[in-house]
Amino acid sequence: MSDERDCVFCKIGSGEIPSDMLRRDDECFAIRDINPLAPTHLLIIPTRHIVNTSALPDDSDRLLGSMFAAARELAEREGVAESGYRLIINQGTDGGQEVGHLHMHLLGGKRLRGLGLG
Ligand code: 5GP
Ligand code: ZN
Repeated sequence: MSDERDCVFCKIGSGEIPSDMLRRDDECFAIRDINPLAPTHLLIIPTRHIVNTSALPDDSDRLLGSMFAAARELAEREGVAESGYRLIINQGTDGGQEVGHLHMHLLGGKRLRGLGLG
């Protein structure tokens, strides 16, 4: 789950797997989720292979700032900044994390019920 040679998000970040790159800066990039659970369902992903929040290095301020800047900008661009949206980071097995490379979901465009991705 954490081997970067075999990591789908590393491959998308490097261009080895083509994708609809929505936004990119020197810290992170954003794509549409392949299996959208809401009209807007984006993934904001660090370019570096970091497994999850627990594995973030101490000096991650720039990365975290850029991930939230991406969320803010993309919510505007997708037209959900006013109507509202949800940011989710799943952590490990109990958190429901399926891809072992840190990513933040941005969900919006419908009224989200309960906790989680739905
Ligand atoms: P997690 O459950 O780890 O928080 O979320 C992983 C997300 O990545 C899922 O919502 C899944 O649909 C998405 N995903 C998995 N593989 C790919 C892929 O190859 N491309 C894209 N765009 N999304 C993916
Ligand atoms: Zn990776």
